[in-house]
Amino acid sequence: MRYNIKLTVYRALSHTMQITRRLEFDAGHRIPCHKSQCRHMHGHRYVLEVTLSGRVINTKGASDEGMVMDFADVKAIAMEQLVSLWDHAFLAYAQDSQIVDFLNSLPAHKTILLPFVPTVENLALEAFRLLDPHYHNTYGNDLTLAHVRLYETPNNWADVNRSDL
Ligand SMILES: [Zn+2]
Repeated sequence: MRYNIKLTVYRALSHTMQITRRLEFDAGHRIPCHKSQCRHMHGHRYVLEVTLSGRVINTKGASDEGMVMDFADVKAIAMEQLVSLWDHAFLAYAQDSQIVDFLNSLPAHKTILLPFVPTVENLALEAFRLLDPHYHNTYGNDLTLAHVRLYETPNNWADVNRSDL
């Protein structure tokens, strides 16, 4: 019985796991050449899921002992590097000149110019690219950004896996 307990503890500390933090933000966009509704200016309540992979930290007495990464730190990095920038912004394709000219005419409007059409696929890929350098392997636990999922609506989302890049 004692042997079984020790074995369980050992496996929990050495195992690689994935953790996910969900964040939400509101943003406007349009798909300029879309055949239907998406060419109109409109907005979404986007939902971002940031999944990190790493080994559970086993530093005795550390604040994040037993964690892959403190969820508060996962959130803080995502907020700083992406969510606070995109929240309540208009995500505009830089070559969509009618929209860009209009947004530039509005004083101090929060506009994010993107080098691609702001579909959920492209936005998810950009989110991965922006976040990836900021989840460091600080504790030597092989921490890495494994996956980003971005929901445009509750029924439509795009996934980016590190293994696909
Ligand atoms: Zn849309």
